[in-house]
Amino acid sequence: MKIHKYDTVIVGAGGAGMRAAIESTKRSRTAVLTKLYPTRSHTGAAQGGMAAALANVEEDNWEWHTFDTIKGGDYLVDQDAAEILAKEAIDSVLDLEKMGLPFNRTPDGTIDQRRFGGHSRNHGEAPVRRSCYAADRTGHMILQTLYQNCVKEGVEFFNEFYVLDQLIVEVDGVKKSAGVVAYELATGEIHVFQAKAVIYASGGTGKFFKVTSNAHTLTGDGQAACYRRGIPLEDMEFFQFHPTGIWRMGILLTEGARGEGGILRNKDGERFMEKYAPVMKDLASRDVVSRSIYTEIREGRGCGPEGDHVYLDLTHLPPEQLDAKLPDITEFARTYLGIEPYTDPIPIQPTAHYAMGGIPTNVEGEVLADNTTVVPGLYAAGEVACVSVHGANRLGTNSLLDINVFGRRAGIAAAEYSHTADYVELPENPASLVEELVERLRDSTGTERVAVIRNELQECMDANVMVFRTEQTIKTAVEKIAELRERYRNVSIQDKGRRFNTDLLEAIELGNLLDLAEVMATSALARKESRGGHYREDFPNRDDVNFMRHTMAYREVGDDGTETIRLDYKPVVQTRYQPMERKY
Ligand SMILES: Cc1cc2nc3c(=O)[nH]c(=O)nc-3n(C[C@H](O)[C@H](O)[C@H](O)COP(=O)(O)OP(=O)(O)OC[C@H]3O[C@@H](n4cnc5c(N)ncnc54)[C@H](O)[C@@H]3O)c2cc1C
Repeated sequence: MKIHKYDTVIVGAGGAGMRAAIESTKRSRTAVLTKLYPTRSHTGAAQGGMAAALANVEEDNWEWHTFDTIKGGDYLVDQDAAEILAKEAIDSVLDLEKMGLPFNRTPDGTIDQRRFGGHSRNHGEAPVRRSCYAADRTGHMILQTLYQNCVKEGVEFFNEFYVLDQLIVEVDGVKKSAGVVAYELATGEIHVFQAKAVIYASGGTGKFFKVTSNAHTLTGDGQAACYRRGIPLEDMEFFQFHPTGIWRMGILLTEGARGEGGILRNKDGERFMEKYAPVMKDLASRDVVSRSIYTEIREGRGCGPEGDHVYLDLTHLPPEQLDAKLPDITEFARTYLGIEPYTDPIPIQPTAHYAMGGIPTNVEGEVLADNTTVVPGLYAAGEVACVSVHGANRLGTNSLLDINVFGRRAGIAAAEYSHTADYVELPENPASLVEELVERLRDSTGTERVAVIRNELQECMDANVMVFRTEQTIKTAVEKIAELRERYRNVSIQDKGRRFNTDLLEAIELGNLLDLAEVMATSALARKESRGGHYREDFPNRDDVNFMRHTMAYREVGDDGTETIRLDYKPVVQTRYQPMERKY
């Protein structure tokens, strides 16, 4: 076991982690630990854009953006945080531009902007062009730009280091962060990083679904590491299903396709979104569009022999526009479906896309141990965190914004904290939990296989806690997850070696997915209303009286070692926007 000492440790080198690192390295001795090589992080897969009310192409302002974000989140958004997001968006885009990001341009040379779902002029009058973009490779450009700037700032990376445990120590009755424990892929060695401040920026958890836009690596490691050490998880029942995944594969086709004028059609060729969202039509919020697609399918208007998908139609757009603005996704249609988007509509279905919930933080990125108490030295930003700016449903292009705004804030706050704070003494055997976990999996002679359990988990989640949910389906999921968790104890791996043992790490990642799936289903069961991405057919209306509050899920361990989930609730911060009925 090796011990390292840094002022600030950042877990993750996606957009949030690298944006934090640029700030933190300037102010404190910083290490970034990442299980992937930085430029392979999922931020690089983001396509459509990053929202900011620059008003370069039409009238816009950050107040409209704030309102759209709150309405998009079905009023579960903390309004003070949404205001910061929308206000700081403008500088956030300009910062990236100065760092060298090649945004698409208007003819007069300013940053071009396109339409995206739920972003509107004057509180819902009509769609507005607010999303800054670099063709359909915006995330790739952000990730490369941030990486180049990290290199310039001399950020120290530990690549292919998997953080598997968060160290929390009680000092004078206060729980503080002492550092993290990581596993080095190349050698199998265990490293302890003692740090005054730790920032989680480890991304989402979409891999508990089967049809998903998320990369294989999005297994919620950061959420799970904190949760296991007593940190609550907020609003985990809210997961976003993006309307346009490639049929059966889930690979994303950006909403920017509809922003550029693409239209959704059913088997009769009808532009069905006109019925569900008369003003915003195909650019209504994602939860609304995904439910509309499944309503069409359920009512027999789906396409294909099995009637299980609808079409994204781009055939009326000029090929030059598709080539210039949507080169990657039109190529995806050709490669994965053998379809020519110039002439034929593309079969799509909703795909699991984004975790609105996560590790609770305040607007400085400080992690909360309960509704109000901060854990000194612990921070989180990006998809792993819940600030909450996305509430019950995130608006498209608000996540690339979130990682930049709150990544920056967390980087500054953590580095400043490390100036005044002392190191927290490490526990006696800081790596014991990870060592036991690794040894148990290496030595196991059990008969269960990782791939089999993961597949059953994904099928169960797709069938029971997707776009439509009921008490019955969620209970089925809770029971199945409990069975899978039991079987997971008996899992074994084939590779017993130390070097590059991805078999071992996939087993550990599966353990994380199982824990988080359990929290998600349990939180969903208790929320007896429909709001944003959480739609209960047995409770189809939003219930502000009983459920205008954030879910806080805590792991509790009894004296006999039994684990249970305790649910509590946290009030939503409301400033100036009264909840209204949501119409698009
Ligand atoms: C296909 C796709 C398209 C998208 N398009 C858009 C878009 O156009 N606009 C928009 O706003 N949003 C979009 N999103 C959402 C957005 O891209 C993500 O929410 C955002 O990029 C997440 O950034 P992040 O920095 O939080 O995490 P990530 O970019 O996922 O990075 C996570 C980092 O954590 C590291 N990590 C994870 N676990 C560990 C561990 N155990 N130990 C060490 N390191 C670890 C990884 O190595 C990685 O570096 C899209 C998402 C997808 C999947």
